[in-house]
Amino acid sequence: MSTFQDLGLNQDLLQAISDLGFTKPSEVQAKAIPILLEKELDLVALAQTGTGKTAAFGFPMLQKIDVNSRTTQGLILSPTRELCLQITNELKQYGKYCKGLNVVSIYGGSSITDQARDVKRGAQIIVATPGRMKDMINRRLVDISKIEYSVLDEADEMLNMGFYEDITSILSHTPDEKNTWLFSATMPKEVATIAKKFMNNPTEITVGSKNVSSENVKHEYYLVNSRDRYLALKRLADLNPNIFSVIFCRTKRDTQKVAEKLIEDGYSAGALHGDLSQNQRDLVMKSFRNKQIQMLVATDVAARGIDVDNITHVINYQLPDEIETYTHRSGRTGRAGKKGVSIVIASKSEVRKIKGIERIIKKTFDKKDVPSGMEICEVQLVSLANKIHTTEINSEIDPYLENINSLFENTTKEELIKKFFSVEFTRFYNYYNNSKDINQSGGDDSSSYNENATRYFINVGKKDGYDWMQLKDFLKEVLELGQDDVFKVEVKDSFSFFNTDVKHQPKVLEFFTDFKQNGRFVNVEISEDRGGGRSRNRNKRRDNRSSSRSGGSRRSGGSRNDRSGSGGNRRSSSKNSGNSRPRQSRR
Ligand code: AMP
Repeated sequence: MSTFQDLGLNQDLLQAISDLGFTKPSEVQAKAIPILLEKELDLVALAQTGTGKTAAFGFPMLQKIDVNSRTTQGLILSPTRELCLQITNELKQYGKYCKGLNVVSIYGGSSITDQARDVKRGAQIIVATPGRMKDMINRRLVDISKIEYSVLDEADEMLNMGFYEDITSILSHTPDEKNTWLFSATMPKEVATIAKKFMNNPTEITVGSKNVSSENVKHEYYLVNSRDRYLALKRLADLNPNIFSVIFCRTKRDTQKVAEKLIEDGYSAGALHGDLSQNQRDLVMKSFRNKQIQMLVATDVAARGIDVDNITHVINYQLPDEIETYTHRSGRTGRAGKKGVSIVIASKSEVRKIKGIERIIKKTFDKKDVPSGMEICEVQLVSLANKIHTTEINSEIDPYLENINSLFENTTKEELIKKFFSVEFTRFYNYYNNSKDINQSGGDDSSSYNENATRYFINVGKKDGYDWMQLKDFLKEVLELGQDDVFKVEVKDSFSFFNTDVKHQPKVLEFFTDFKQNGRFVNVEISEDRGGGRSRNRNKRRDNRSSSRSGGSRRSGGSRNDRSGSGGNRRSSSKNSGNSRPRQSRR
């Protein structure tokens, strides 16, 4: 096992490393640093986030640049402002003994004039997001014509975010003879294209296997009906009282909604998505880093820059479309040698996708049962007992003890303990007592009959370019409904079916009274067959509608039968399926 001394780093850097308390190089550092120090070459390094990548390119760059010159010699492109700031901070710490070093970060959402001024003072290294960098080049506020080292950090993320054009344009302003070091967690073909196009016979190093998830991350999934996702999420949070997690949703709306619901229900949660202002995002991230927020609900794009250590759980509230996105998500936990869990709250239709992920990441998911209410009560009780056991006594309560003691004069220790714990336990007990089992088992999701659901026919299908997920997203969007409010979406060639809770029925029918898409009426009617929902009032509804609409592409006559499911398997209702949870004093 090599040491930092073995890697060939100079004294200034070794001193900083010692100050930081790094005892031995991480794998990517041990592999990359000697090569980059010894040779002038291009490098492709495949490494997950959290593996010490910044130091792997940072140390060699700091050692190679001339700090006595004010010329910009190193350029690091990274996908987000968060990451830019983080890399800049790390480099400043690593280079704290490199006298004269000036590292400047440039990113959108902050004053371009201030950043230009900082660069003008003589930045040997610039850390930038592609968008702002391109902007500054166009305005001639930076000169990168003498760059010797360029780093494309989180290259896959940058390309995912659509920065290909910006990156190519930026690189065209740099000298051909520079060295390019590309770091990426995954190697999709877009990254391979960049490597081929802009790099000269790059040396490749891989930390772990490509696309393989970290050894420190366990993968689990919980199978629930899609409408019970939120209930499952709450139970998982309650089962892990010290949870510190990122919860991923697919859309900004769902992200906001889930976060709002969690907050309403007494959890310390926050939302992070692109509809928030930079200021709001900064505040949320600050609270998350300080652990004032235990659960950060985020979209993939907004979470890209997150580099927070000690995340205990990544929760996939919904699975992403791309398997590689799952790798990114789960890479947020299990960092810096810590253990982590990546959880998927899955519906039946997503199980196949989980199998696909298993093949790619070469890890098996454990199928777990959503805990029962009583299991959660027990965990909460034990957690409270441990907390009390390790609590330091605050002597400020001494003056009040006399009164308290006299109140409990005739109470035995056993009784007192029971009473004390009952305060917290009863809260959870009342909430979870008689709570339903929300685990899904066997059969198809579409076979469960729900008497509170309405099943609809809609005259768009595969021919209109929809798959079930796209149709669901479309319906949620136009109807302003949440992720789990539209379910059992089944797409046929020229028509489809979907369910909503009965309470949304008037809204759905009203909305589609005269809704046109591409010049054609989109027609929604209540389906005759249950297919998981309840048929009602079809004829009445159709009569109403035929008077309010002319022509269009409505199918004529016949019933809109959903042949997918056959009812049965009625779910038991629960008194306790409400949203509110017992508020805990700590929240
Ligand atoms: P990175 O992958 O560069 O984002 O690094 C992840 C975290 O690991 C950062 O907080 C670094 O400060 C830390 N780190 C980097 N290298 C080492 C090392 N050799 N030993 C311990 N921690 C490290």
